[in-house]
Amino acid sequence: SEVKPSNFIRQIIDNDLASGKHQQVVTRFPPEPNGFLHVGHAKSICLNFGIAKDYQGFCNLRYDDTNPEKESIEYANSIAEAIEWLGFHWHGEKRYASDYFEQLYLYAEELIQKGLAYVDDSTPEQMRAMRGNLTEPGQHSPFRDRGVEENLDLFRRMRAGEFPDGSRVLRAKIDMASPNINLRDPVIYRIRRAHHWRTGDAWCIYPMYDYTHCISDALEGITHSICTLEFEDHRPLYDWVLDNISVPCHPQQIEFARLQLEGMLTSKRKLNDLVQSGVVSGWDDPRMPTLMGLRRRGVTPNSLRVFCERVGVTKQDSVLELQQLETCVREDLDQNAARAMAVLNPLKIVLNNWPAERIDELSAPAHPQKPELGNRKLFMTREIYIDQNDFREVGDKDFKRLVTGGEVRLRNSYVIRCDEVIKNEAGDIVELRGSVDMDTLGKNPEGRKVKGVVHWVSASHSKPATVRLYDSLFTESRPWELDDYKSALNPDSLVVIEHARVEPSLAEAKPEDRFQFEREGYFVADRFEHSGEKLVFNRTIGLKDSFAK
Ligand code: ATP
Ligand code: MG
Ligand code: MG
Repeated sequence: SEVKPSNFIRQIIDNDLASGKHQQVVTRFPPEPNGFLHVGHAKSICLNFGIAKDYQGFCNLRYDDTNPEKESIEYANSIAEAIEWLGFHWHGEKRYASDYFEQLYLYAEELIQKGLAYVDDSTPEQMRAMRGNLTEPGQHSPFRDRGVEENLDLFRRMRAGEFPDGSRVLRAKIDMASPNINLRDPVIYRIRRAHHWRTGDAWCIYPMYDYTHCISDALEGITHSICTLEFEDHRPLYDWVLDNISVPCHPQQIEFARLQLEGMLTSKRKLNDLVQSGVVSGWDDPRMPTLMGLRRRGVTPNSLRVFCERVGVTKQDSVLELQQLETCVREDLDQNAARAMAVLNPLKIVLNNWPAERIDELSAPAHPQKPELGNRKLFMTREIYIDQNDFREVGDKDFKRLVTGGEVRLRNSYVIRCDEVIKNEAGDIVELRGSVDMDTLGKNPEGRKVKGVVHWVSASHSKPATVRLYDSLFTESRPWELDDYKSALNPDSLVVIEHARVEPSLAEAKPEDRFQFEREGYFVADRFEHSGEKLVFNRTIGLKDSFAK
């Protein structure tokens, strides 16, 4: 693996360890279980778990589960699966913000006791109107000066379920004139009779994210609470809460720029919309930028880790070129994927001088640089398939494949010639007739040069397969900037080839085995739909852009 470059977060940690502020680093990854993780989360995972690993510290997995309506155990499970797939594991048990509901509640009482929180009966509209804006300070709520006893009584009755949903909130009493709107008496509790997937109906009040997050961090002894830049303006609130209650420690919040990639949405709300509207088959559709989608697409966890490492950690938002990820994927697959031949658009050629009963067993390396991966068996027979795109009746000097009357080498096999083209009544080419130069196995033909090499399979000794060609989901590189991103869907993001033919070794492929189909690209046996009886391969990515056919 690559040497990890330092970054500003690691420098902060280095200093904290050197100064003795901390003896051990504790981080956390805090997803909300309201959807599947996406490629952006990979960066946060690699950062938090990577730092814990490199500094021999801990990284907790903590579900930020304070929005009961949107959350579920299915999402929570998919998150854990994605983290493990990426190659990381959390410290100890999974954590849940909901495990801290009682403590969070008691800290809220502490704030009330200190005169630092109050129950507000204003409507949401009234509160919005009193909040002010960037140029206008806010106004005090008429309920801001309620006494401690009244606030405590009302808050306890909020918990007891005496008031309807949305009728009251608990607010932190900070500064309605603060230039930072997050400090204008933010709401820290709301009444919501929603069934929670873990706490059931035990609570009808739920704490807000900003209030919950900092306390959860403190309760877990987090040393460095790493989050994305949009929380920079929330840091004063994070610190205010912890400064005003008796928590065991005060973690440092550090922000970094979100990962954004061309062509990929990284908002769970929008991804959920694609799933709900049926644009994709599910959260793990191979076109989705979710980790489970990328997994089904055949992207390796290693290439994602290398990618996150290479793009680094900054304080500057930017949109990365998709090519940066693709390069990492190709590098990994080129080194590790076994080679195989698959003919996606089969065109039969009958080799007239090859006896019908003759079957030659040929052998080819599974990987040109990795003899330890062994060899695969190929079978040369009288009838074979090549790809329709590798034949033209009349060629030109740039077309180095098969033409009528011309020759081409079958990869790992003989040189053949096309002698005749058979067409149907509509004039479509249905079959070719040709011949084999029997003296060309592993050597050049006598007296002439054959430049082209094409992949092929035996007609009788190949297997049928379904091959799914995936392309980007959007025709725009920044779909998130469009009001209607579904107007920019790529109609060709999925092309299903039902009748491909693949070399027989692929019948042995297990779900998630990855291959380079020679001259076609990198493919993966589908995680769910592929079996020895029904072969299904997904295209991960084409060969190099510069690849000349
Ligand atoms: P969404 O707005 O789509 O729901 P989120 O940021 O609310 O995304 P969380 O589940 O809260 O999603 O995210 C968990 C962690 O992952 C947070 O610390 C968040 O900052 C981080 N994260 C989310 N998206 C990205 C991204 N694009 N790049 C880097 N980190 C991210
Ligand atoms: Mg969110
Ligand atoms: Mg969030």
